[in-house]
Amino acid sequence: DYSIKVKVNSRDEIGNLAAAFNEMANSIYLEETKKREFIENVSHELRTPLSYVTGYTQAILDDVVKGEDQHKYLTLILSESNRLEKLVTNLMDLAKMNNEKLVNQVPIAFAQFLEDFFEQYSLKMKERGFSLSLTVDPDSIIIADESQLKQILNNVLDNAMNYSPVGGVIRVQLTNEREQVILKITDSGIGIPKEDIPHVMDRFYRVNKARSRFDGGTGLGLAIVKQMVVLQKGTVTIESEAGKGTTVRLSFPSVS
Ligand code: ADP
Repeated sequence: DYSIKVKVNSRDEIGNLAAAFNEMANSIYLEETKKREFIENVSHELRTPLSYVTGYTQAILDDVVKGEDQHKYLTLILSESNRLEKLVTNLMDLAKMNNEKLVNQVPIAFAQFLEDFFEQYSLKMKERGFSLSLTVDPDSIIIADESQLKQILNNVLDNAMNYSPVGGVIRVQLTNEREQVILKITDSGIGIPKEDIPHVMDRFYRVNKARSRFDGGTGLGLAIVKQMVVLQKGTVTIESEAGKGTTVRLSFPSVS
């Protein structure tokens, strides 16, 4: 029985949100035994930021927090709300993924696709103080869903920036190997300790927060990547060294 419900005893909207989460959990394909764990995780992840939001708001309303401190607490409320928003978006992505009506796999010229993608994404990188080194082998065709492919790239590249000092170079390399197209995304950031590497693609898994300047994550980004890559019949592996950097290696079957 996986019917552990998210318990939020608060206003209607929050109750509705909790109900939506429960429904989402049911629509995401999971083995029965994993469902219980998933709902417990979602409940926890949902309750933590919500309790900050309600607690801080109440403190401000009760005049417990005054003057300059109010600004600090409002900033915390905003950041916890942003975190909730990300969580909802990520959960929606997980739920949508297995909906066949929304998946549209077509032949994609990968090198061209990457160049188009980075025309946009490199602007985001620049804004955040990172630069891109892109190298592509002549075109090969893969069969994939374009929007899922974009989401895979977004999640991996967002991580590359989130877990690296500003000013770094992110290397993206596309090569053809036999019947596979290999895409490597390499950063020179904080890296992942050896013992954590096998777990970072698990839902809600995050490496010790204290190590990272980035604390806005949900722990769902790589779980989404893993699931989406598998849907495109690909594989994903991570090589990393703490303090040196990380390479995410994506591999997809090519049809040319
Ligand atoms: P999050 O929302 O926390 O970024 P992810 O599922 O995307 O969740 O990643 C899980 C965890 O793996 C992160 O919290 C981080 O600790 C670690 N991680 C992911 N990508 C990188 C990277 N490029 N460099 C260092 N650590 C990373």
